[in-house]
Amino acid sequence: MNNLTTDVAIIGGGLAGATAAAMLGRAGHNAMLIDPHTEQRPEFRCEKLDDSQLALLRLTGLADDVMPQTCADGKVWVVRYGRVVDRGKNSPAGILYHDLVNAVRQQIPASVPHIATKAAAISGNAGRQRVTLATGDEIEARLVILANGLNPGLRETLEIKREVLSPCHSISIGFDMKPDADQPFAFPALTVFPERPGQAMAYLSIFPVRGGMGANLFVYWNMEDPRLRTFRHQPKEALLELIPTLTNFTGPFAIDGQVSIRPIDLVRVNAPERPGLVLVGDAYSTSCPAAGTGVNKVLTDVQRLCSTYVPAWFCKGTIDAADVADFYADPVKVQCESDSLQKALWLRRVSTGTSMGLRSWRGARFVAQSALGRMRGLKQLDVTARDPSDLLRGA
Ligand SMILES: Cc1cc2nc3c(=O)[nH]c(=O)nc-3n(C[C@H](O)[C@H](O)[C@H](O)COP(=O)(O)OP(=O)(O)OC[C@H]3O[C@@H](n4cnc5c(N)ncnc54)[C@H](O)[C@@H]3O)c2cc1C
Repeated sequence: MNNLTTDVAIIGGGLAGATAAAMLGRAGHNAMLIDPHTEQRPEFRCEKLDDSQLALLRLTGLADDVMPQTCADGKVWVVRYGRVVDRGKNSPAGILYHDLVNAVRQQIPASVPHIATKAAAISGNAGRQRVTLATGDEIEARLVILANGLNPGLRETLEIKREVLSPCHSISIGFDMKPDADQPFAFPALTVFPERPGQAMAYLSIFPVRGGMGANLFVYWNMEDPRLRTFRHQPKEALLELIPTLTNFTGPFAIDGQVSIRPIDLVRVNAPERPGLVLVGDAYSTSCPAAGTGVNKVLTDVQRLCSTYVPAWFCKGTIDAADVADFYADPVKVQCESDSLQKALWLRRVSTGTSMGLRSWRGARFVAQSALGRMRGLKQLDVTARDPSDLLRGA
């Protein structure tokens, strides 16, 4: 059995852990990253970064290294009530999750070693933490950053409970799309909002990623819904049954490769304050992928922790539960958590609600985005988008 010593042991090398390792390493801290995989493997997670996320990435100092890996391809066409209402909105930067995490991991300085195994247990006090690895080796650290995502094992051994705020809040369906013809799709990126609450969907987003066009569909169904089974076996048929007008915008298309289906519970840990131990990213709380705020939460946590709290704690010496509580109460973090939860709850309500108020809200949104689209240079608002050749003429 080996005993290793460091100041910061980071458990988990997803976006949260990798960003923490890069930031702390670049700042000259003594740190180690523990994750069983030396490279992030393909996983269905965040596949695009919006402007707010790129701004946060800039705060971490990693934006210049990640941006060259993204496909930021012009404008996104927005469809509401079966019409293209806007063609001028900036498209998010498409990047597959493993490309994003691996780009961040490449920025981790060589001074931060990667220990390629699982952490099996954590124990300690305000002065010292001990991480026992699956190999039996042990790491002693002043601070443990727990960034192990949804994995419950370590959290449960620490007796940190999770509160489920909204079970099966949404289901994310991810797949690749390609046009049937040799021509590319007419749009750089496309977002289709539902026409009626009965569809129980937030939206469909089609966007460029490395090697083609990715698609994310976010729905509010339960896992027993027969439509999910159709999505697994006949995804194109299921998609057209849900959005019968889709080919008006895409033209004939095919769904390429595997379809990933992920249900998401909204959860948050309860009373996680422990001396010398901080939970960040999904390990602290989850977000709804439809609301697209998971990366904001991850980057806010890590940026606040690594640039403000860690340096102050190391000047002070010990890290007790009250110090850790200060981090969880950080006003920027608290605001980000609150915005993320409110957006998730609101999006579900506004997408599925049938009250007069919500119908009016959806109508108002249609009018507002149409006006915005017109302002952004949409020439033919009255194009009904029932005829693809109309769309192509106006493109
Ligand atoms: C389907 C889906 C779609 C999403 N879409 C979006 C989106 O469009 N926009 C957005 O902003 N957010 C989105 N999100 C959320 C976002 O992807 C997550 O919030 C983010 O990936 C969380 O990163 P993380 O580092 O906290 O966790 P993870 O990426 O899960 O990383 C956890 C890491 O911990 C490691 N690990 C686990 N256990 C151990 C252990 N015992 N020892 C060592 N290592 C361990 C794992 O190997 C993994 O590398 C989506 C999420 C999902 C599931």
